[in-house]
Amino acid sequence: MRRLKIKWKILLGHSIALVLLMMLTLPVMYILVSDHLYNGAKTLLLNEGDQVVQALRSGDNTNEPDSAYDMIQTGTYIAVYSNDNTQISGWMPESFDFDSQPSFDDVYYPENGEHRWMVLDRQLIANGSESGWFRVVKSLDSITSALNYLKTLIIVIILVYSLFSALAMISGGLLNRALSPVKQITETAQQIVQGDLTKRINFDGARDELGMLAETLDEMLDHLEYSFNREKRFSSDVSHELRTPITAIILSAEEALDGDKTVDEYKEDLCVILNEGRKMNSLISQLLMMARSHDGKYTPKMESIDISALTKTIVEELSEGAGNTEASISSDIEEGIIMSVEQTLYMRLIINLVDNALKYNTPGGWVKVSLLKNSNLVSLSVEDNGIGISDENLPKIWDRFFKADQSSINSSPGLGLSIVKWVAELHGGTVHVKSELNKGSLFEIQIPSK
Ligand code: ADP
Repeated sequence: MRRLKIKWKILLGHSIALVLLMMLTLPVMYILVSDHLYNGAKTLLLNEGDQVVQALRSGDNTNEPDSAYDMIQTGTYIAVYSNDNTQISGWMPESFDFDSQPSFDDVYYPENGEHRWMVLDRQLIANGSESGWFRVVKSLDSITSALNYLKTLIIVIILVYSLFSALAMISGGLLNRALSPVKQITETAQQIVQGDLTKRINFDGARDELGMLAETLDEMLDHLEYSFNREKRFSSDVSHELRTPITAIILSAEEALDGDKTVDEYKEDLCVILNEGRKMNSLISQLLMMARSHDGKYTPKMESIDISALTKTIVEELSEGAGNTEASISSDIEEGIIMSVEQTLYMRLIINLVDNALKYNTPGGWVKVSLLKNSNLVSLSVEDNGIGISDENLPKIWDRFFKADQSSINSSPGLGLSIVKWVAELHGGTVHVKSELNKGSLFEIQIPSK
């Protein structure tokens, strides 16, 4: 009871008060109706008694009370008795099996079994002396049955109302319980509006439609919070990545402007500025690509090309540039694979993978690129025996701006593999990686050839 809300207490109190009021008023009503019916019947009986006396007087013959019989209503019986209580005339109903001892005091109500009667006995006086008596009997069965009906009705009304109140309370409670997620959802939404994106409904009630809605909203909030945090991290990562080359450019420019320099020293500063400018340019083009990948609406400009020839050309070009990484590149490329791809994106995908395999390699290491077609699936794999990736970092490498080595030696922004994944998925493909620290890595991209 203590845990009931005020509105429920009021509702409960109201229902109990109404039931009590009914339990008091309906029996009083029963008593009043019953009195009214009995009094009416009694008045009628007394009137009929008077009429009988009149009739018998005018006829002056107690043996012939027929005119009196005509005056009375159906359901009323009259009999005339002699002074020694022998019935002279008239008749009594069969079920009225009482002895004929009269009682002249007042109307009385004998009962036998299921019948109840109203009886009036009157003395007959003829020529100044008692000349017997008569009895008027009225059956009360119709009143009793009407009152019984009324009693049943009253009990049924009280029961039905009590039941109805109980059901209203129960269904109100159930409704309140069923709608509790709505309240929780509203409260959570209000907290989120105030800027707290970590809030969840955490509904632990029944898993009905509303319970499932609450669960779905929690999942949606998880995604929203994740995306929101990712965006926040993205902005700070971009600023961070841009700050490094800009600082280098400013420092080099200041250095060049600081006092007289030789041509070689100016050239050195300009080289730094050029390099950092190129890095920024590459970062910005990768960021543009990321932005395209991010809105999810980019439609690749597909063209059917010989990706065997294209892959071979890219590998050859990268092999030439790989000289300074001290790792060698070999390839196993199946001839004549024609596939529908966006050429620039496909090239970006291979370059990023081979670039990484060279970058994260060790002196004297190797890189193997292979391209195979198996039924309708084209598999491009890039394998190396470089530094490998730890189990802990493996699931994170596809994230934007993730770098296992955060030191300034790794100057790349950490966008390469997220672009690889986006390009593969844009072409309906999947990405897989196997790697072991200090042993090497195998990246495999599978794209349906249709
Ligand atoms: P980055 O610009 O740093 O190369 P990527 O998205 O291409 O960014 O790669 C993310 C991280 O995954 C890298 O910083 C590196 O730690 C790891 N990684 C990627 N490729 C390899 C590889 N072939 N061998 C070892 N580590 C790799």
